[in-house]
Amino acid sequence: MDIHEHQAKDVLRRFGVPVPDGGIAFAPEQAMHEARKLGLPVVVKAQVHAGGRGAAGGVKLCRSETEVNAFALSLLGRNLVTKQTDAQGKPVHRLLVEKATDISKELYLGLVLDRKSERIMIVASREGGMEIEELAEDRPDALVRMVIDPATGLVPFQSRELAFKLGMSGSQIAQFSNVMRGCYRAFRDLDATMVEINPLVITGSGDLIALDAKMSFDTNALFRRPEVAALRDPGQEDPREDAAAEHGLNYVGLEGDIGCIINGAGLAMATMDMIQLAGGSPANFLDIGGGASPERVVAAFRTVLSDPNVSVVLVNIFAGINRCDWVASGVVQAYRELNLTLPVVVRLAGTNVDEGRWIINESGLPLISADTLAEAAATAVASRPAMAA
Ligand code: GDP
Ligand code: MN
Repeated sequence: MDIHEHQAKDVLRRFGVPVPDGGIAFAPEQAMHEARKLGLPVVVKAQVHAGGRGAAGGVKLCRSETEVNAFALSLLGRNLVTKQTDAQGKPVHRLLVEKATDISKELYLGLVLDRKSERIMIVASREGGMEIEELAEDRPDALVRMVIDPATGLVPFQSRELAFKLGMSGSQIAQFSNVMRGCYRAFRDLDATMVEINPLVITGSGDLIALDAKMSFDTNALFRRPEVAALRDPGQEDPREDAAAEHGLNYVGLEGDIGCIINGAGLAMATMDMIQLAGGSPANFLDIGGGASPERVVAAFRTVLSDPNVSVVLVNIFAGINRCDWVASGVVQAYRELNLTLPVVVRLAGTNVDEGRWIINESGLPLISADTLAEAAATAVASRPAMAA
């Protein structure tokens, strides 16, 4: 789960990381009020769950209240499209108004979960401001990596070593150690999966401050972090994914036209690959999970069909915990209840497969059966209505 920049800054501030003074605004008048309180100039920043706002016109240094008002008016209620969003962008409903910082140097600092070492890894660079993915590609040697041993936690010499590698001196070293400690504790104590400060700035007077902040959290740990769960902003999330989650479905919307209803994340990935191989393109990733009832299968159809691009539905079930007869009943029920007319390809294997196939055949509905994954994918691709030229 992602949170907004202003929320991440509030969290990090609590852990002792220096961040600029600022306030949140939901309306232009409020933005002007915050600017007056802070004193001009201020930086006004669109709050969306995506980076790349600076380059997309979502961050502006304002020298007057009139400028704050105009910029707030131009952003609020609109969608901001950045390099990190899709073509729709993300809606801007709040702005962060901050006291402007005098920048002398922009650095990069990130903490991520490194799956290979199964530990928290620090990634840092002297070249802050730009996107880390680009930096990793263009200048891999500009990145410094360091793994934290969970038995000892972050040890002070690691912070000092990093500070030297980032070219710091004097009181900056102690300040950097403090930032590192705060980020590490916030990460560990709140079940985060990522903390990113980009840029971490050295100001004109030589002090460190976190100018931007991003945090993501482990969704599976939210039950024990109610204070983190409260920071969720559903307005920034795909409503289809939310609706699916309520039915215990794991759904991710994509850009193709073949709707997928599958059990198991691995089979779902394999099916998407097979669709691509057969020359098609999946409209979504969807895992209906284990022990799916007919009702859950109907909910899966509803979710998949809420995407207007879907022209074929492919149901691919390899039932272990699941039961093919339940899934088949769900497919038949969905076809009738939702008055479907588009082609539906069904491939069933595993537990109660004979009963499942019997239900599909006896339904009298024009459902298309397939025996193997490859056949199912090829049939789905071939069943698409002819594309308009
Ligand atoms: P992002 O583009 O979404 O990552 O947004 P950031 O918060 O990182 O801001 C983008 C860029 O705006 C930063 O890299 C800075 O160069 C600039 N910026 C942000 N806040 C300030 C500020 O207070 N003073 C100055 N001079 N520049 C700022
Ligand atoms: Mn940034």
